[in-house]
Amino acid sequence: MDGVPTPLRCFNEHHTAEMLVDDGVETVTSLEQEKVERSIKEVVSVYKQMHSLPQPTLLREQHYQYLKKGLRHLSDAYECMDASRPWLCFWILHSLELLEEPIPAAVASDVCQFLSRCQSPTGGFAGGPGQHAHLAPTYAAVNALCIIGTEESYNIIDREKLLDFLLSVKQPDGSFVMHVGGEVDVRSAYCAASVATLTNILTPKLFEDTATWILSCQNWEGGLSGVPGLEAHGGYTFCGTAALVILGKEHMLDLKALLRWVVSRQMRFEGGFQGRSNKLVDGCYSFWQAGLLPLLHRALFKDGESELSRQRWMFEQQALQEYILLCCQNPSGGLVDKPGKSRDFYHTCYCLSGLSIAQHFGNMDLHHEMILGKEENRLAPTHPVYNICPEKVAKALQHFHRLPVPDDSRQPGPP
Ligand SMILES: [Zn+2]
Repeated sequence: MDGVPTPLRCFNEHHTAEMLVDDGVETVTSLEQEKVERSIKEVVSVYKQMHSLPQPTLLREQHYQYLKKGLRHLSDAYECMDASRPWLCFWILHSLELLEEPIPAAVASDVCQFLSRCQSPTGGFAGGPGQHAHLAPTYAAVNALCIIGTEESYNIIDREKLLDFLLSVKQPDGSFVMHVGGEVDVRSAYCAASVATLTNILTPKLFEDTATWILSCQNWEGGLSGVPGLEAHGGYTFCGTAALVILGKEHMLDLKALLRWVVSRQMRFEGGFQGRSNKLVDGCYSFWQAGLLPLLHRALFKDGESELSRQRWMFEQQALQEYILLCCQNPSGGLVDKPGKSRDFYHTCYCLSGLSIAQHFGNMDLHHEMILGKEENRLAPTHPVYNICPEKVAKALQHFHRLPVPDDSRQPGPP
């Protein structure tokens, strides 16, 4: 029956048959791959011996405790993340909304105040108070504020200055630098397009030639690279494709080549995704790669493709859920890249986001769930373009669309 998961279908049936074949040529890569496959085989065999757990289980309570603690008190191990503090807010808040755990009003307000201190006097958000504005924490801060979704959180964003900041990092060829004087790559176009649509400051001038520049990042492999001419990579491919969806230009990609590239990144033994060809599986690509499938599904649907499923994305949703639930959960809460790695909020956020994509199919009016394990494993759906819950996207759009789009021909005011 379509859509009803058979418990551990992949691990029980064909997994052992599909372990690595290295053509008899041993390389560093093939040895590493073998090591990962052995560690996964071990996890699965331990799991199979535990008869008390008939289905893979999401460790909800443990993840909740880990996230709750993180929101209040970031351990010393995160000192190196001092320039990414809005990211920590986003990763934790989004994980909590996927788990459908409400954020206490006092905590939400504290986060708002903290993010307002990260807002630069010249517009956009910095990695921490007193630092320079940068597109990545700007994206994270706007997403976090939209997840909170209160008047207080929306009002923190200075939209006119945000537009000034975006214009200040826009390049003549349509690309964006991450910060003034910084590097160009396709992440920046996505961060800019995402915050501009969510806060309703998108003007034609802001994204002039951006679609053409992003399209030039699609290479012979079918995926996209960070800048034209490099290797295709899951994170960049997601960013470029999602930015094109926002700009309404995704049909200009070679969609079939992209589809072929991304489905080939799902590992046949592990069930999870790799970021690039010949790399190891990593839990965070559960979102960056699997998140492309909803975007592609809709793009092909809009293109008139008639043979699309009405119940499934074009990847093995069940195998991905098995990988995340069996191989990526830390028993004390938090999720990881692969067995043996330590937990962090980044992997927690993107493993859960990928799990949500694998559980929920939705296209136009259709919605179909495929939850591996018990119903309690069910996460809230996530919006595949912004990666926050769809009702939070709708609420933000509704709020900011009542406000006028700032004039992009003004001269930026003094800081
Ligand atoms: Zn990772």
